[in-house]
Amino acid sequence: MTGRSSLLRPDDVIDSILQITPEFLARRGLRGLLLDLDNTLVPYGSYEEAAAAGMFRWARDLLDSGIGLYLLSNATGRRAAFWLARLGFHGVGLAGKPNPRAYRLALRALNLPAQQVGMVGDQLFTDVLGGNLSGMHTILVRPLATNALPHTRVARHLERLVLRRYGHDWKV
Ligand SMILES: [Mg+2]
Repeated sequence: MTGRSSLLRPDDVIDSILQITPEFLARRGLRGLLLDLDNTLVPYGSYEEAAAAGMFRWARDLLDSGIGLYLLSNATGRRAAFWLARLGFHGVGLAGKPNPRAYRLALRALNLPAQQVGMVGDQLFTDVLGGNLSGMHTILVRPLATNALPHTRVARHLERLVLRRYGHDWKV
């Protein structure tokens, strides 16, 4: 039931990206992060720069500590480009997560091996699954906002069932 090798099992479950500090990463042997955009760095669909000030500061602190960051988003290229112009690191939209291909290209861009990179995202069936398929450390973060898209609500329900098996009470 709770096999350690499950591809849907995140290595860490956290409430906010702000919990990820250089110390947090050092303890896990991580030198880089692939970051989901929607509901991980910013609320789903948001273009509000002012509300993202804390996230910008967090990212800059990690970069200053020598942590490699790369945006891996399934959002449209245009939306990813809007945020990439403001984030201060590279990345892509339309990544096709959980397809490992985009993860492979991202690892190459960071010039780090999979074992030294964490995938940070709010969805088990895209972010975590693809990260585990790629041999990376996976960090599930509580989504910043709920959205009412029917397929998302179904995914949230399934995520909750999976996470309950792993001992996490996941209410979003
Ligand atoms: Mg997301």
